[in-house]
Amino acid sequence: MKLVHYQLSNSQKRIGLVENQFIYDLKDLFTLWSKRYDKPLLPVFSFEDFFRTTSYSNFQTLQEVFEFKSDVQPFEWNEVKILPPISTTSKILAVGRNYATHARELGNVAPSEPFYFTKLISSVIAHLETIYLPPDSQRVDHEGELAVIIGKKLNRHSTQEEVMNAIYGYTIVNDVTARDLQKSFSEKGLPWTRAKNYDTFCPLGPVIITADAFQPNNKTIRVTVNEIEKQKGNTQNFIFDIPILLSFISKHITFEVGDVLLTGTPEGVSPLSDGDVVSVEIEGIGTLTNFVKAAQ
Ligand code: ZN
Repeated sequence: MKLVHYQLSNSQKRIGLVENQFIYDLKDLFTLWSKRYDKPLLPVFSFEDFFRTTSYSNFQTLQEVFEFKSDVQPFEWNEVKILPPISTTSKILAVGRNYATHARELGNVAPSEPFYFTKLISSVIAHLETIYLPPDSQRVDHEGELAVIIGKKLNRHSTQEEVMNAIYGYTIVNDVTARDLQKSFSEKGLPWTRAKNYDTFCPLGPVIITADAFQPNNKTIRVTVNEIEKQKGNTQNFIFDIPILLSFISKHITFEVGDVLLTGTPEGVSPLSDGDVVSVEIEGIGTLTNFVKAAQ
């Protein structure tokens, strides 16, 4: 199943199930399902609340409600505003240098254990929104990545099996980076927080594909700028795979439901300029497209 967070003009935020170019509203589907099976109505609207309400969001129930799709009037993809899949999550953690080829292109060695940094929720924007280039950076790069959405709490006591079952789904992210600032801060031994977290530096979406419908181990990631290919990689070249990353990080930091993990970018990062259109495409999920403008 593919899920999308969206809005009709002047209406509240909604969640939909996606098939082809159509969006089937979850509230409408669950209304029919509730009547048929005599269950309470779907009580939530945000994705994070939806994940926490596992009696509704489990994969089997989603399959069940989708059987009512022929009784629901779907929306076309282009008649709604797409929202970021995640908006109130507690944290976004991002793994650095998880493809040896990308580590090399920036003159770094492949790490012997995963390392990670934070992206802030204030930097998140949706599909088709605009990335603003800050005036105090001369080089802002795209970094196309696979993102993991956490569906169950994980901490240092979690077993390997709990780690494997904690993934709700996957989406696409562009880990936009002020490369010159990242480099100069690193050289001074300072943290990268600013270089990674300007407003609009975390395009996310457009859909979440549920974990039962996506195998993350051998997927092509492509980034194009103005339709010219810049990055091309495959998740089979991860230095640390997703279960290792979740297991390692949850030894230090508790993952909450709705948290997001960015899994690192392949080689080919390149600078963005005013007027560009940047797209990150992941096989089996879709394409995340954003416009680029100089901030005023
Ligand atoms: Zn990155």
